[in-house]
Amino acid sequence: LGSARTLWDLLAARARRTPDRPALLQDDRALDFGALRERAERVAAGLYGLGVRPGTVVAWQLPTRIETVVLSFALARLGAVQSPVIPFYRDREVGFALRESRAEFFAVPGVRRGFDHTAMARRLGAKGVLTAYDVLPEGDPAVLPPPPAEGTSVRWIYWTSGTTSDPKGVLHTDRSLIAGGSCLGHALRPTESDVGSIAFPYAHIGGPDYLVMVLLYGFPAVLFEQFALPEALDGYRRHGVTIAGGSTAFYSMFLAEQRRQPPGTRVVPTLRLLAGGGAPKPPELYHAVVREMGVQLTHGYGMTEVPMITMGAPDDTPENLATTEGRPPREMEVRIVDGEIRLRGEAVCRGYLDPEQTAAAFDDEGFLRTGDLGHLTGSGHLVLTGRLKDVIIRKGENISAKEIEDLLHRHPDVGDVAVIGLPDAERGERVCAVVEQPPGASELTLEALTSYLRGEGLSPHKLPERLEVVDALPRNETLRKVLKYRLRERFSDTSGSEPDVH
Ligand code: ATP
Ligand code: MG
Repeated sequence: LGSARTLWDLLAARARRTPDRPALLQDDRALDFGALRERAERVAAGLYGLGVRPGTVVAWQLPTRIETVVLSFALARLGAVQSPVIPFYRDREVGFALRESRAEFFAVPGVRRGFDHTAMARRLGAKGVLTAYDVLPEGDPAVLPPPPAEGTSVRWIYWTSGTTSDPKGVLHTDRSLIAGGSCLGHALRPTESDVGSIAFPYAHIGGPDYLVMVLLYGFPAVLFEQFALPEALDGYRRHGVTIAGGSTAFYSMFLAEQRRQPPGTRVVPTLRLLAGGGAPKPPELYHAVVREMGVQLTHGYGMTEVPMITMGAPDDTPENLATTEGRPPREMEVRIVDGEIRLRGEAVCRGYLDPEQTAAAFDDEGFLRTGDLGHLTGSGHLVLTGRLKDVIIRKGENISAKEIEDLLHRHPDVGDVAVIGLPDAERGERVCAVVEQPPGASELTLEALTSYLRGEGLSPHKLPERLEVVDALPRNETLRKVLKYRLRERFSDTSGSEPDVH
């Protein structure tokens, strides 16, 4: 199945192989692979009736529901270009996405209170608004042109998280998404008796990536319209979830739930594997999850531009699983240039909507500059050491925020931490640690923190010169990633240069 040319071919092949097995589970509903294919084709005909053609750009901002997956496969059947927008994005981001992608149609759940999608779509020049919640447009598949014959033209526009700058529109093909999902599947090797789940919005690139794995391996995924623990645990128990996905913040949430259980009780008895990624994962968290939850944990590295780069294999050693992102699949060429990870392979996007951004992002040999720093170990495992934009330059010396964060994560009075560089007239930048404390922690001082870091062997020029304790670090809503630019904004202007202590 992995050689399918298009997503539609992949669904059709799966539907031929196991039509009666469940593909999607949500609340009390289930949709089989055969039914998913049939419904998607009828909806494709409905969309065709409304004027959607191969190549038509359709943006959608829909909750994670069975209908959304059906709509997305209907668009894949038509060969339309779809641009998923994360559900909790508001006017500014939505307007940006519609404008930049030149969407002709915009599919929304309905009119949200205080926000008129229809008016916005009209204002931005979209021809039509589709209200796609419980009722999707349907028609007779006989009217449809043949499905797309190749999977190498741009059919997806995804939006980066906007962690380091404005979101960028990323161009993907069916083949790049299939390659990403294959990489995930190769690492996790699910079987038909597994039950997966998607904790992040389907509109995130991890959504179709996961669905590709579901189609390749023929097991179902449980969808949550609003993912929140502990409610989601009911869904896990009801459907017998064996593989749960999410990012680092989800592992911590699971662990906290586990710690609330009576001794000897597992929070989800069927769960065997937590498989996530997309944000840094402290090794301590890996060990705590494995020890206390009795499940395996694998973590992967991906980005909107390359949905899956590496994913830890569950049977790898604890050391590798705790400290690396896994091994890149054979199809992915990884090169480290001046510390930066560069990638070439089928899962890599075709570029950005903005050709200038594309030109800047790819090197002469067609490798994508990821903006992430890392290295490969002797055994070929990838280790991430930070982001280029996260390097703090103090008195001309490069300081990795991640190195300091990793050390601080081990401090008992530190729950989570973001280390940032703040502008400093004399030193260029200075190091500031912003800490979120766990419940019941003792008060932290800069002196205590720096003497701890000294004790851990951190070189003096890397020691934080400022400590800020916050109730909660600002995070994005998709993967709960820490938004450092917000912290930089918040703390940049509040104090001048302090005496140089080291
Ligand atoms: P923008 O590109 O708009 O600034 P962004 O890069 O955060 O935002 P995404 O594409 O959602 O947007 O995130 C990809 C980035 O997330 C990667 O480039 C990397 O920096 C980080 N990331 C992904 N996986 C991991 C991981 N396992 N560990 C650490 N960081 C990770
Ligand atoms: Mg990025």
